[in-house]
Amino acid sequence: MQVPAPFEYERATSVEHAVALLENLGSEARIIAGGHSLLPMMKLRLATPEHLIDIGDLTDLAYIREEGGEVRIGALARHRDVLESDLLAERLPIFADAERVVADPVVRNRGTVGGSLCQADPAEDLSAVCMALGAQLVIRGSGGERVVPMRDFHVGPYETAVGDAEMLLEVRVPLRPDMGSAYEKVERRVGDWAIAAAGVALSFDGGTIAEAGIGLAAVGPGTVHLTRAEDALRGQAPSEELFAQAAKIAGEDCAPTADQRGPVDYKRQLAGELTHRALRRAAARALQQEV
Ligand SMILES: Cc1cc2nc3c(=O)[nH]c(=O)nc-3n(C[C@H](O)[C@H](O)[C@H](O)COP(=O)(O)OP(=O)(O)OC[C@H]3O[C@@H](n4cnc5c(N)ncnc54)[C@H](O)[C@@H]3O)c2cc1C
Repeated sequence: MQVPAPFEYERATSVEHAVALLENLGSEARIIAGGHSLLPMMKLRLATPEHLIDIGDLTDLAYIREEGGEVRIGALARHRDVLESDLLAERLPIFADAERVVADPVVRNRGTVGGSLCQADPAEDLSAVCMALGAQLVIRGSGGERVVPMRDFHVGPYETAVGDAEMLLEVRVPLRPDMGSAYEKVERRVGDWAIAAAGVALSFDGGTIAEAGIGLAAVGPGTVHLTRAEDALRGQAPSEELFAQAAKIAGEDCAPTADQRGPVDYKRQLAGELTHRALRRAAARALQQEV
């Protein structure tokens, strides 16, 4: 049986309390939210925190709302909340696309948005979603809040911009005019991590693409941000040829490794194909066409 190393346990009663505990207990303290990533790592002794700070009671952070031209998602919103949100289904359907294929209902009932993003697993689906959407992440420490763009949030595999005495509070997604978004994933079996996945967000100005965002999961050492493909899309009219060009760039600009989920060439091919499909679906949603 796998058993974690000994640790002390604290329950935070407020964000201020959680931050004060983090500050007082030092770098060997870790936040626990749903525990679906951290506890397995502790059982394998890949993580050996001396103190766990449980933020599960901070239900004020479980919101999903529209405010100031943005959708704001609290760090404690669970996968299931995201999947079932009418606001997200209407404004940012990429979230429901992704959540339908995140793990299984047991994980989705407990796992949180904050835990997912802070785990910074390169195959993690919501990070690719947030990359595509150009999300901003609100981080709270004892000195106040700071906002970090998603492209700077992951500083390496399993490493984020959140400092030892800080926590992630909120995800902010800017809403743009005539916007469409979509997520495409291929996994080996239902509930598995991606072999490859692509998230796309497009907004339009008249007949041309005003803004494009693309994030890939599982095909690099971190979430892949496809800036070259985004540049190729911006200012252009949507077409199958244009999307094929961006898909080709996706295959070139990702950096998969061979593993039990497949060889490198297959993953590059898949990244391109999924990017193409997500572009097609995001554009159709923005332009209210049948996919
Ligand atoms: C069987 C299984 C299958 C899975 N399949 C998928 C999948 O297909 N796709 C996918 O994307 N994910 C998948 N996951 C991962 C799942 O989405 C995450 O485990 C989960 O959502 C993480 O959230 P949590 O609240 O449980 O995080 P926790 O395990 O509590 O924490 C994870 C990490 O984030 C830190 N943390 C948590 N909240 C905060 C915060 N607010 N501020 C700062 N740090 C914080 C913790 O300290 C820890 O380091 C799977 C997990 C399991 C167990």
